[in-house]
Amino acid sequence: ATTLSNFIGTPPHPGPVTVVSSVLTQVFETDGSFVAPANGGYFDSPNPSDGSVNARVPDSDKRDVDAAAEAASRAFVGWSKTTRAERSTILLRIADLLEARIDEFAAAESKDQGKPLSLAKEVDIPRACHNFRFFATYILHMEDKKTEMDGVSLNFVQKYPVGVAGLISPWNLPLYLATWKLAPAIASGCTCILKPSEFTSVTCWMLCDIFNQAGLPRGVVNMVFGLGPKAGAALVEHPDVKLISFTGGSATGEIIYKSCAPRFKKMSLELGGKNANIIFADADFDKCLATTMASSFRNQGEICLCGSRIFVERSIYSKFLAAFKQKTEQLVVGHPSDPSTQVGALISKAHLDKVMGYVKLAQQEGGVVESGGNLVTNVVNGSGGYYMRPTILTGLTSTSRCAQEEIFGPVVVVIPFDTEAEVLEFANSTQYGLSASLWTTDLNRAIRISSSLEVGTVWVNQWMVRDLNLPFGGSKASGIGREGVPYSFDFFCDERAVMIAL
Ligand code: NAD
Repeated sequence: ATTLSNFIGTPPHPGPVTVVSSVLTQVFETDGSFVAPANGGYFDSPNPSDGSVNARVPDSDKRDVDAAAEAASRAFVGWSKTTRAERSTILLRIADLLEARIDEFAAAESKDQGKPLSLAKEVDIPRACHNFRFFATYILHMEDKKTEMDGVSLNFVQKYPVGVAGLISPWNLPLYLATWKLAPAIASGCTCILKPSEFTSVTCWMLCDIFNQAGLPRGVVNMVFGLGPKAGAALVEHPDVKLISFTGGSATGEIIYKSCAPRFKKMSLELGGKNANIIFADADFDKCLATTMASSFRNQGEICLCGSRIFVERSIYSKFLAAFKQKTEQLVVGHPSDPSTQVGALISKAHLDKVMGYVKLAQQEGGVVESGGNLVTNVVNGSGGYYMRPTILTGLTSTSRCAQEEIFGPVVVVIPFDTEAEVLEFANSTQYGLSASLWTTDLNRAIRISSSLEVGTVWVNQWMVRDLNLPFGGSKASGIGREGVPYSFDFFCDERAVMIAL
């Protein structure tokens, strides 16, 4: 098992000079320090594929967060004054260095998270590279707002970084989502402290080396590893941390919301979902079926955007269910590193138990397990990995707990509907409002329904297509705020209006 250490930049001091690039005008020390947690404690993080210890993670506490906040505050003085071109140069270098190591990072991500290696290699790590490139390019072309009031006043808006940003990320898309926060924070001129999920710290820890190689000044990024209620809570509560960008569960979001309120911290909350996948009889059946397989079970259903409630127009319900069952039964559940694997291991034993608990609950609620619903114990010669068969539940109402609560595993509920009004009521009936997919070839209906869905993202005849120029975020209990451009910059920067008399 790898033993991780916190990555905390120490204050700049005179020493060997490293000129990072010809574009850079400021000179920084570049060796961020890896340090052991103040209390010397570590906990084991398991490899989901076999239950063995994959990493020993620092059990950091307030003292580690204090050290990181001090380093980040000092680094902010210089970093906030760098030009966009300087920051862009470093971000592009980070992307290049990461891209050169995609295989290594993908292998580590798959081992730490349980996702199929192919998915980590084709989606997660390339997207992490893209996150750095995307924000690096955007800041070079950001437009500053200027107005003139009839020869009376020349006005402009200054965007300035808010300060030290606290970033907290979940375990399902570890590097993908951590970099979706790190890149815009760095690009904005903020310095930051990231606390990745305690279940998946390894690739973020590996990224620290890349930050050093890329010449990111000490203290601009700090990482504190550890448990949410301890290291995470200390980060949220720290007085020098001016804003919190959080992705995770809605219950944790509520705790963070409350904790930020008396401190008037800026907050971005990307939370859970119970997304509707609405299928009308006039949909392109084959495309809809193939996409529904992915939106139901990709990454073991551990994606906030998975469509875990499938509403099918009654006239095609039986046909759809039969085809969906057949395809689901063909899915290969296997070891994440096996190229034929389509569904890997769930993140932890506790999560597997929770997901299996919902299968039991469905039966108590009068539901039928149409497919799956069982553990898979023989994937790695009976070793202790956390595998289950992709599961289809029917016979449940849209108000049942299994159709209302986020299960966050390879379990979907399929429910028939008769009218547009009925399916809209079903779709909007949960506390969540993250995303929805809609399948129809009737354009007017597509516009009508999407305009009435209480969600942050609607896909029509597709799923998971992302345009990072569009706002990303949830409504209701799925979150507060939007990410992407320019939204992430609106979050990490404040604006100052300056008016000069002419
Ligand atoms: P989680 O809320 O348990 O943990 C997320 C992060 O918060 C972890 O780093 C954890 O250590 C930390 N944390 C926990 N308690 C904390 C506290 N009291 N104070 C500060 N930090 C704390 O979520 P998870 O189980 O890691 O992730 C799964 C959830 O994330 C699902 O609900 C999923 O829908 C959601 N998610 C949402 C999005 C989105 O973009 N909306 C994306 C991915 C995942």
